[in-house]
Amino acid sequence: MLEMRSQPAQSAPRDTTPLVEINNVAKTYETVDGADVVALEPTRLTVEEGEFVSIVGPSGCGKTTLLNLLGGLLEPSEGEILFDGRPIRGPIRDIGMVFQRPVLLPWRKVIDNVMLPVEVMKLPDAAASRQTALDLLKMVGLAGFERSYPKELSGGMQQRAAIARALVYDSRLLLMDEPFAALDAMTREEMNMELLRIWRETGKAIVFVTHNIPEAALLSDRVVVMTPRPGKIREIIEVDLARPRSLSLMGDQRFGEIVDRIRSLLGLGDGDNPQPRGERSQ
Ligand code: ADP
Ligand code: MG
Repeated sequence: MLEMRSQPAQSAPRDTTPLVEINNVAKTYETVDGADVVALEPTRLTVEEGEFVSIVGPSGCGKTTLLNLLGGLLEPSEGEILFDGRPIRGPIRDIGMVFQRPVLLPWRKVIDNVMLPVEVMKLPDAAASRQTALDLLKMVGLAGFERSYPKELSGGMQQRAAIARALVYDSRLLLMDEPFAALDAMTREEMNMELLRIWRETGKAIVFVTHNIPEAALLSDRVVVMTPRPGKIREIIEVDLARPRSLSLMGDQRFGEIVDRIRSLLGLGDGDNPQPRGERSQ
């Protein structure tokens, strides 16, 4: 069952800059009482253009920290992150984000929340974007709620609106922090398939944080397994399963082997509990 991989030619094209290069990035927070919290130990990771990378690890191991560093919302204490070869110094248009909590503006209707990036970035074709926004709301199951206010939606619905907002314009990199944690199992599976479809159609790279190991295996090209706090990368698992993928893949033997491998790296051992404790932590 060995798979042959083509080796890069000796005279490979020069343009081999990865989309993202995380070069020995570490983060230490200073708490209000002056104590230091090491959230992330020096970490190296690259993400290629169009790649789907998941990050799994116990609560508090620095996953959100890593994503916020990638999004330019936090500054590294050490090291640097390059996007397309240039250092990230703050949020940029090419990087979209879905946060762990939906953070919708309470005074804006759902559709106006989804349109926010279009307004903020003054994207040229607002009418086309509005149609995209409406289509996305339909896709995430919010047709009929376009003119509702966030407080009129459940937590899961708000998160789906936030996902639509992150997809309303085409970023080259999408960062997603446990985006489906508040969804019921069926909606979550549907959203997984929709996300794979969007990823395939747009060719964007995605860095996806999840507590759900089968979800990570189903979606990803590679799964980054982190250690407990202070977080660092324990191992990176290549998910060598064919694409396009469907939910039925989860019954395959190879899929099971990959899930078991990730689980054992996380110290979860055997058993059929797909989610470690803390699914909805923080
Ligand atoms: P995860 O997303 O993996 O659960 P986080 O990145 O949110 O982990 O947090 C990593 C560690 O850093 C945790 O111990 C958390 O308590 C700490 N931490 C996160 N944000 C801050 C902050 N603003 N100030 C101090 N400590 C923080
Ligand atoms: Mg987190």
